Amino acid sequence: MAYVLTFWGTRGSIPSPGGLTARYGGNTPCVSVEYKGGDGSRLLVLDAGTGIRMLGKQLQERGRSEVEVDLLLSHTHWDHIQGLPFFAPLFGGSNAVRVWGPKQGDVALESILRRQMEPVVFPVPLDGLAAQLTVQHIEGESLAIGDFDVSTIRLRHPGNTLGYRLTPKAGGSSLAYVTDNELGPGGEYEVGPGWRADFVRFLRGADVLVHDSMFTGTELNQHRGWGHSSFEEAVALAVEAEVKHLVLFHHRPERDDAAMDELLDAARQMGQAAQKPLAVSAAIEGTELTLDGG
Ligand SMILES: [Zn+2]
Ligand SMILES: [Zn+2]
Repeated sequence: MAYVLTFWGTRGSIPSPGGLTARYGGNTPCVSVEYKGGDGSRLLVLDAGTGIRMLGKQLQERGRSEVEVDLLLSHTHWDHIQGLPFFAPLFGGSNAVRVWGPKQGDVALESILRRQMEPVVFPVPLDGLAAQLTVQHIEGESLAIGDFDVSTIRLRHPGNTLGYRLTPKAGGSSLAYVTDNELGPGGEYEVGPGWRADFVRFLRGADVLVHDSMFTGTELNQHRGWGHSSFEEAVALAVEAEVKHLVLFHHRPERDDAAMDELLDAARQMGQAAQKPLAVSAAIEGTELTLDGG
């Protein structure tokens, strides 16, 4: 059976709507992962940026009376959680939403989600949601969620940020979701000296790698320590880890569609020059990728 990846939000940092970004999309990170066909199968979602609103709307339109969602958060910077209060399934009494993610220092994940819905900034508190909501911490372990085996790795980004690798329990293609990650020098992050080797091992042979490529190499020189990568670094990583398909992600808010086309062309040329069978694309809001689910 196949499973389907849908990009609901591809933009980094802040929503960037408007005519100049309409094609690649202006919503912040949200990717759904779903087995096609089986109506009973559960839905897994990566990050709750503003893109998650349209996913919730589509689930409503499908008319499913009971929605079960596992939501995996990479971290809790605004662009990755800001859509959650607008996720329609949270307002349905027969729905269940399980949120997974890292805590930040001593601050529990649930507390962070509660804070972004306090009355001074949002009209409905977390406890006022009708759906059954559970929040659980993940800290670097491997676990089974829904139809997938999920492994995690700490990333080089301010705060406690996780990358996820999903492999269907039934076998088939594996997917790595790695956004907000600084591959080059710069920044001080709580990862060990062997991080790069561990990280490449973590990604080795992934069928699809969705990776942060917010900057160009030139822009990156002005943004070392911000916790993001250039597309050149993402391509080099994909080549090194023998990934089959790299999807550029977390697009810079300032980058319009024409500039995105240019960036993608340059990334593809670099992939071809490496003479490895690497496909390169850039995430486009509203598009799907179908993967082998075993
Ligand atoms: Zn981000
Ligand atoms: Zn971030």
